[in-house]
Amino acid sequence: MNSNLCTICPRECNIDRTNQPSFCGANSLKIAKAMKHFWEEPTISGVKGSGAIFFSHCNLKCIYCQNAEVSHEGIGKTISVQKLADLFKQLEQSGVHNINLVTPTHYANEIIEALNIYKPNIPVVYNTSGYESAETIKRLKNYVDIYLCDFKYFDNNLAKEYSKAPNYFEACTTSLMQMRKNQPNDIIENGIMQKGLIVRHLVLPTHSSDSIKVLEWVKTNLGKSTIISLMNQYVPYYKALNHPVLKNRLKPLEYKRVINKFIQLGFINGFSQEATSASCEFIPDFKEDTQEFTY
Ligand code: SF4
Repeated sequence: MNSNLCTICPRECNIDRTNQPSFCGANSLKIAKAMKHFWEEPTISGVKGSGAIFFSHCNLKCIYCQNAEVSHEGIGKTISVQKLADLFKQLEQSGVHNINLVTPTHYANEIIEALNIYKPNIPVVYNTSGYESAETIKRLKNYVDIYLCDFKYFDNNLAKEYSKAPNYFEACTTSLMQMRKNQPNDIIENGIMQKGLIVRHLVLPTHSSDSIKVLEWVKTNLGKSTIISLMNQYVPYYKALNHPVLKNRLKPLEYKRVINKFIQLGFINGFSQEATSASCEFIPDFKEDTQEFTY
């Protein structure tokens, strides 16, 4: 068996991606930006910011992606595992509340190697699209403190059309269960999360019924104390600009319907967003001359 064959994520490409093109586009470790991030959930960003590392490439191909230059085109800089470990230290020394690994899935092996070199004394956040393999999540047990996980779709037809992931529901839900096993308790100290799981869901235009099914699944399988972040920030972007459904903005009533269901289902922990968050100004600038940290 060739251990270089990649099966890190549910696509299970089973190829040596160092010499063959992969679905995600990833080859060796590459990052697009490291920055203090102030626009995550308040328990993650706090007042000092979250130490975000945006990884290049992605194993989803969302047609509405706001960071397509990074996720689809793969802009960024190839770095060594040692440099990534050094970056953890650099971010930690800058005073941020946590190390926030954004779209980390396809580099899970390198992230584990880097955390074996240097494990910061602040929480490590695994900020993922939810298209994960439960096996990979299991391997992260002793490395990740907080899972910040999207649950994008209940209906796999939407996952297939919008993100090219026809088995998204199964992959995301089995991985969420494993994340909960890895971190069974949500621990928040002085308003800042130390351990646990936050389930994120972006409400899409015309699909509030799918959002409601997502909430019902979470209540049944993870319980009503689960922390849910209901995102109101959808902006038509990238290929969605020409899509008959996704070229539209989310209507306030659609978002309200989902929030009402959240309350009706008895959830007690969660975040909602003001309509003003649906703006391109919250998308990071990935140009190199805006880099705050060196790597
Ligand atoms: S991480 Fe990339 S190469 Fe590996 S299985 Fe997933 S899509 Fe394929």
